[in-house]
Amino acid sequence: MLGSMKAIQVQRAGGPEVLELTDLPKPSPGPGQVLIRVEAAGLNFADILYVAGEYLVRTRYPTVPGMEFAGVIEALGEGVEGLQPGVRVAALGGSGAFAEYAVVPVRSVLPLPPQMSAAEAAAFPVSYFTAYFALRTQARAQPGEWVLIQAAAGALGTASIQIAKQMGLRVIALASSEEKLALCRRLGADVTLLNTQDNLLEAVRNATEGKGVDILMEVVGGAGFAQSLKMLAYRGRLLVIGSASREMAQMHPVGLMKGNQSVIGVWLTPFLSDPAEMQAAVDFLMPLVASGQVRPVVGERFKLEEAAEAFRFVLSRKNTGKVILQP
Ligand code: NDP
Repeated sequence: MLGSMKAIQVQRAGGPEVLELTDLPKPSPGPGQVLIRVEAAGLNFADILYVAGEYLVRTRYPTVPGMEFAGVIEALGEGVEGLQPGVRVAALGGSGAFAEYAVVPVRSVLPLPPQMSAAEAAAFPVSYFTAYFALRTQARAQPGEWVLIQAAAGALGTASIQIAKQMGLRVIALASSEEKLALCRRLGADVTLLNTQDNLLEAVRNATEGKGVDILMEVVGGAGFAQSLKMLAYRGRLLVIGSASREMAQMHPVGLMKGNQSVIGVWLTPFLSDPAEMQAAVDFLMPLVASGQVRPVVGERFKLEEAAEAFRFVLSRKNTGKVILQP
């Protein structure tokens, strides 16, 4: 397929300053692949780590970042069945979404309910699948349990509040401003607390009748990790999902014995190549989006060429919901 396209390319590890708007050849779909015209791409904290060379997979430069997007199918590679050009879909996994066109393997394509806007569709895959795998698959959450969600007004946080409420959990939402906490309450959080407040540990214990939380979604890491462990109830599970502070955390594993507690890692990427787990997640999530019971929170929107500004915006902790890049 001839022609060129605009893309955000990165030549070396760094911050927002290494994002360059470039002309690249428009890709064509190989066997088993789908070419999609990108309408909106979700900006994840992981993209920032990936560009910086600090992510869980090694970044190979030059690269076009972006791991989720929504757009219209333009062409199908050899052997692809069951999809039609002209249909809007979302796509999840890999890189290359911060561009006008992207090619993805057919298994990365998610058909979506037609009423979802492109921005909502782009905001959906990473956050909602992660929330599901964290709470259901890894933590084995049970109705009535307490879950504490850090960075609860962010992309993963807002998805997690909605998914937790659908699972019948009781939610404590933590965030850094009153405005963010108001959003968390609108989404159904039962208790909201500023993460900057003194005696946070005491506030969490008071909210849970002195017991602590059954599940804690840890996305900040660093110095606060030790306090997160203290917030766990008997048989509580601390989910290690992220480290937005980009600082090392310390723990003494022996401390887990007394309360029969667990620390559990959660990473979306390996689940993407597990068909049975993906099918279970799709069966749970799709009816909820189709019926409007859960709805992605779309935050600020930036043009593709404003990618650096969008990265700085997320790093400044100003975003609520998912920041969107639009070609
Ligand atoms: P968010 O939209 O949640 O943005 C990040 C938020 O983290 C900020 O708004 C801020 O919320 C909080 N934060 C705390 N400390 C810092 C810091 N030092 N610098 C910047 N932000 C900070 O991003 P995402 O939803 O994309 O990701 C949230 C977390 O979840 C990240 O750690 C990410 O890596 C992780 N994640 C992990 C996945 C997995 O598979 N394991 C998948 C998806 C996300 P506040 O100001 O309210 O504290």
